[in-house]
Amino acid sequence: MKCTRSYENSTARPRGEKLLHECNIGGALATNKTMQRRDFLKAAMGTGVVLLNNQPGKAWASAKTAKKLQVALCGLGRYAGYLADGIAESRYCRVAGIVTGTPSKKIGWQQRFELPDKNCYSYETFDQIATNKDIDLVYVVLPNGMHKEYVIRAAAAGKHVIVEKPMALTADDCREMIAACRKAGVALAVGYRLHYEPYNQEMARLGQNKIFGPVEQVESALGYRLDSGDDWHFKKALSGGGPLMNIGIYCVQAARYITGEEPVAITAQFGPVTRPFFQEIEESISWQLRFPSGAIAESKTSYGENYDRVYVQAKNGFFELSPAISYGPFKGRSSTGAFHFPVTNQQAVQMDAIAAVLLSGGQLPAHISGEEGLKDMIVIDAIYKAAANDGRGMLPR
Ligand code: NAD
Repeated sequence: MKCTRSYENSTARPRGEKLLHECNIGGALATNKTMQRRDFLKAAMGTGVVLLNNQPGKAWASAKTAKKLQVALCGLGRYAGYLADGIAESRYCRVAGIVTGTPSKKIGWQQRFELPDKNCYSYETFDQIATNKDIDLVYVVLPNGMHKEYVIRAAAAGKHVIVEKPMALTADDCREMIAACRKAGVALAVGYRLHYEPYNQEMARLGQNKIFGPVEQVESALGYRLDSGDDWHFKKALSGGGPLMNIGIYCVQAARYITGEEPVAITAQFGPVTRPFFQEIEESISWQLRFPSGAIAESKTSYGENYDRVYVQAKNGFFELSPAISYGPFKGRSSTGAFHFPVTNQQAVQMDAIAAVLLSGGQLPAHISGEEGLKDMIVIDAIYKAAANDGRGMLPR
């Protein structure tokens, strides 16, 4: 898939190059010097910067252990590369195994992470992971339509699971995945990297704590232009839909974590189809959500245009990010001034926070749980239904 500006589908980063360095390009946040991760984690713990209800203070304290969370990456595509770099930079995780259908990929990954043959699985041999004590957790980074099967198989093998967003193709699939993990007694998380990213955490803090008064309006837009349509993202059975499933989900998330509420009313509209490769999925879509407090969220997502922005109007001021959702560096301000937060390796921070909880035997926070993934899918299901129904939609009570 060729795109003119992309992070979700980017292949551009040379192997081994550190995301921390990548985050500094462009100098958009010239005053915001990259902090060592160690320092950032200390700062985050000490000042309470971490929001989105994830205060893993206790877990961090007890995670001062030599043991690392041993992660098997299931699916070795583009995003698995980002995760591998993040894990390599993390303190509490290591890549301990892989699941791939491509023997040529296996060799490179085996060499890079010094993986014994017994820790390398194909999709056919995957279930044998159940007896492998070297693996604590499976991170499912496959096309969306494969998430459900591999989460359920990982749970049946007794492994904790992180699954990439969107959690599954439908809310009903999410419910099955949650039930399977609960039955197996394993943790289930969705790979919501922005929940550990300071600029986005600040947006949640300002909104949920009503620092500028009650939130009145959240405007969010995330899109990038794709100039060909030749991979799984364009096949509905594997993607579940177009930009809404892939990137618009971040706008749904932002509206939910900035208001701290679940929507009660919805309208939605598909955009026009302007190019031939949008046969099975939408090219763009807009939607509007109303929350119990009266706050309104207006969002759009597209594979035809480039934008990356979240703007919040509250009763006594505003706050915004742009770029807001990509891999950064982010830039933000409120009506009282610019934001200055550390640039982090999003995947390393996310993985360390999850590892700190699991290594200390704790429970993962609700905001990255399977239930959270389900809440997003309930809204996404409703957006698609509304757009297909002259714009009018219903949300389950
Ligand atoms: P990708 O196409 O680069 O990788 C998909 C991997 O799945 C490849 O290794 C491919 O070989 C494998 N695969 C197995 N069976 C397949 C099949 N039938 N068809 C196609 N591929 C198959 O995709 P990606 O960009 O790495 O996305 C994977 C997941 O990660 C998706 O769910 C996506 O939404 C998510 N993602 C998340 C972020 C993020 O920032 N959190 C960014 C990008 C992607």
